Amino acid sequence: MNGKITDFESMGSADGPGVRLVLFMAGCKLRCLYCHNPETWTDKDSKEISPEEVLKKFKKYANYYGEHGGVTFSGGEPLLQSEFLLETIKLLKKNNIHVVIDTAGVASGYDEILDLVDLVILDVKAVEADEYKFITGRDIDEFKTFLESCIKKCKKLWLRQVIVPGINDDETHVLKLKEFANSVPNVERVELLPYHSMGKMKYEKLGIEYRLGDTPNMDKENLKNLEKLLK
Ligand code: SF4
Repeated sequence: MNGKITDFESMGSADGPGVRLVLFMAGCKLRCLYCHNPETWTDKDSKEISPEEVLKKFKKYANYYGEHGGVTFSGGEPLLQSEFLLETIKLLKKNNIHVVIDTAGVASGYDEILDLVDLVILDVKAVEADEYKFITGRDIDEFKTFLESCIKKCKKLWLRQVIVPGINDDETHVLKLKEFANSVPNVERVELLPYHSMGKMKYEKLGIEYRLGDTPNMDKENLKNLEKLLK
């Protein structure tokens, strides 16, 4: 079966180890305040791709990806297209390709997918229920269920959190994230991502209200200081 993507990047270097083919899958149930890819929320402007085409795209630049790179499924929420994802991942693994999913864990039907992927990049919107709902518009339960599955399957995890001025850019939040990360086995890395307002224009184009208004970009120096707390 075919999958729906909004875009892809042939030389991605920010979503997993090495240089990677990154596919931005269409569809997401969350509505994060800071989302900079609102065009991925639905499949309105998506294009179709088959598992074989994904493999072909990878093979085109296989020399660049080398031993350390691979394919990352990002989005949107890649797990919403679980049938396509499973079929494609099976094909990639048959070809010994390293596979990462970059997910918020808000989906279902991911059991077999989790068995096959090499690494899960898990977007931790917030560790507390009320703040999770404030940021994403949904309850935290599905995220917790997904995390439990990752723990049960001993999946290697990279945790990520977007740091937004005035929302979670303080010691208390980062220390809570650290405590959370320490409570989860197999966490290989914890990353803080700086909020930026580059997605704002997309909201205007799509006629969607941008709820963070004039929130400034996250200051890089302040972010570095917060990162020190994670050590
Ligand atoms: S989970 Fe990702 S794609 Fe979905 S709304 Fe949040 S930031 Fe956007």
